[in-house]
Amino acid sequence: MISFDKKSWVASAQGSIFPIQNLPYGIFSTAQKTPRIGVAIGDKILDLYELALHQLIDLNPEIANQNSINSFMALGKEKTNAIRLQIASLLEMGNDLLTNHSNKADFFVEMDQAKLHLPIKIGDYTDFYSSRQHATNVGIMFRDPANALLPNWLHIPVGYHGRASSIVVSGTPFHRPKGQIKPVESEPPIYSESKRMDFELEVGFVVGQATELGQTVSTKDAEKYIFGLFLFNDLSARDIQQWEYVPLGPFLGKNFASVASPWVVPIEALDAFRVAGEDQNPKVLPYLEFEGAKNYNIELEVAIAPENQEETVICRSNFKYMYWNMCQQLAHHTVNGCNLNVGDVMASGTISGPEPHEFGSMLELAWKGTKPIQLKDGTERVFLKDNDTCIMRGFAKKDGVTIGFGDCTTKVLPAKS
Ligand code: CA
Repeated sequence: MISFDKKSWVASAQGSIFPIQNLPYGIFSTAQKTPRIGVAIGDKILDLYELALHQLIDLNPEIANQNSINSFMALGKEKTNAIRLQIASLLEMGNDLLTNHSNKADFFVEMDQAKLHLPIKIGDYTDFYSSRQHATNVGIMFRDPANALLPNWLHIPVGYHGRASSIVVSGTPFHRPKGQIKPVESEPPIYSESKRMDFELEVGFVVGQATELGQTVSTKDAEKYIFGLFLFNDLSARDIQQWEYVPLGPFLGKNFASVASPWVVPIEALDAFRVAGEDQNPKVLPYLEFEGAKNYNIELEVAIAPENQEETVICRSNFKYMYWNMCQQLAHHTVNGCNLNVGDVMASGTISGPEPHEFGSMLELAWKGTKPIQLKDGTERVFLKDNDTCIMRGFAKKDGVTIGFGDCTTKVLPAKS
C-alpha cells in the first residue's frame, strides 16, 4: 500500500481521483504515440513505455509498448507491485529524477489530449448476480414477492458466461438493439427495437494470473489472481431478456454491448477500503468460507444526461453491498476445475443497496415502469431514451484521499435501420 500521507509533486494529483495512492493502469495513444500502457496521475498520464526505455522502472519496454495490459499483468504480482512502488517513488514529492531528466518532455501526456482504449484483451467474460437486494427486487417484480430469492441463491454465487467481443471502453456509444420482444402477453412475439433499454451498475475485475485445467482457487488465494477493478455497465434490453431468458438465461438481451471504464485500479490501491460484508446465513459450504474483510467500500453513482442537457444523478449505491465477494466468486468459478486465463473479466452483477435510490438499474429505480424517474430538464424516464448518455462513477474515500475509477460512459444511439 502507498501510505496516505504521501503526496506527489504532480500538483493536479492532490485532491484528484488519481492521487499517488491510486496509480491505475490504462492504454492510451496520442497523435504522436501509438497505444501503450499509461498510469493516471492527476490530470496527466505517465508513459510507462518511455519510463522503461530510459530504465527508470524495472520493465522490458516491449511489455509496455502494447495495446493491452495483459502481458504486464502476466508478469505476476511480485513484479507488478514492485513496479507500482517504483512509479510511486518517481512521482513522490521530493523526487526530481523525472523533472530533471533530459527526456522529461516524453514522460507525460495531458489526459485530455489522449485517446483511451480498452485496457484489457478480454478472453472470457463472466457475469455474476451477487447483490442480494438486486436479486430480491427482480424476484419480487417477476416472480413471487413471498419467495423472491430462488432456492439456490444463498448457497451459490450465481453467474453465467457472457460475451467478450462486445465489451467496449467508456465513451463508445451503442445502437439500440433489435430482436424478439413480446409486448402483449397474450399475443405472439414481434421483431422490434428494444423499448426497455437499461443499464446495470456493476464493478468488474480482471484476472492477472492463469490456472491449469482442473485447478481450484481457494478463497484464501483468490486475491493473488485479481489484478484490478474497474466500473462496468452491463447494458440490458429488458424486453428481449424477458422473452428469451427461460430456460438458459441471458443471451441477446445482454451481448450487444457492455461498457468498461478505461482505468484498471490495482486491488492493492483499495486495501484501505476493505469492509466486512453482510453475515452469510445459511452457512456456506466450506469452499466458500473465507477470513477477513473481503468487501470494499466504494461509492458508486449513475447519472443520465439527455441530449444537450445537464446530467441528473439517479442512483447512489456502494460496492460494499455485495453478498458474495470477489474471492468467493473466483473460488466458485474454479471449484469444478474451470481454468482461468490472464485477461478474463468477471463482473459483480447489478449492485443495489437497500434504499430505493440505491437500486442499480432503471428496472428497479422506476420499478418496472411504475415509478418514473424525474430528470432536471423536466422530462421523465422509465428506461433509457435514444441519445441519452449514461455515466457511472466510483470513488473510494478516506482520510482526505479519493481513489477514483474514471467515468464509465456510453450513449444510446437510435437503432440501425
Ligand atoms: Ca448483469
